[in-house]
Amino acid sequence: MNNLITKVAENLNKNNMESFVVDKKEDVLPLLKTLLPDGSSVGVGGSVTLDEIGVIPFLREGDYAFFDRYAEGLTRPEAVEVMRQALLADAFITSSNAVTEKGELYNVDGNGNRVAALCFGPKKVIVIVGANKIVKDLNAAEQRVKTIAAPKNCNRLGLNTPCFKTGECVSMKMENREMCDGCFGDNRICSTYVLSGYQRVKDRIKVIICKENLGY
Ligand code: SF4
Repeated sequence: MNNLITKVAENLNKNNMESFVVDKKEDVLPLLKTLLPDGSSVGVGGSVTLDEIGVIPFLREGDYAFFDRYAEGLTRPEAVEVMRQALLADAFITSSNAVTEKGELYNVDGNGNRVAALCFGPKKVIVIVGANKIVKDLNAAEQRVKTIAAPKNCNRLGLNTPCFKTGECVSMKMENREMCDGCFGDNRICSTYVLSGYQRVKDRIKVIICKENLGY
């Protein structure tokens, strides 16, 4: 696994995404602190990985202007407004649904705020991933979302979708399945599919790979 992580880190660098490798999840916050100057405005994408590391309390307690979409008492429209403001933050922190061996980030969003921030807006994007997010290629990344990430997220969010019931996307049984095939209805969490390859703005995206598994 160490060789694979080294290869992925090198390929992220080739794609103009600055990579960092840490041994365990406790190493992430100290590194994050060095990447976030005091006084920075910061937004976050929804992520179990960030929860497992403790990123939200870290940002609340630190010297940051945190666009806190989870602040107590926010109505849904207020939370959406915070998510909009976060698109112009100094830094945006998120995870990724998958990282390919070629050093690409693959993400599927329901609302689209996380992939919007990845593509453009925040001056800096810090992506935190566990070793479990590394996949061979785009095909494996797509399968990872349809058979692991989406079913588990639907379970976590209490969304009554086909993948929540069967453990995989309804599209997995379709003939000639295409990436955006899936269910229909308000509960669907797969709407926008983004593959981040070579970046024109060098090191705007920074990727922290943890050798432990994080999130799903
Ligand atoms: S499209 Fe629907 S069934 Fe397929 S993974 Fe997404 S939420 Fe689940």
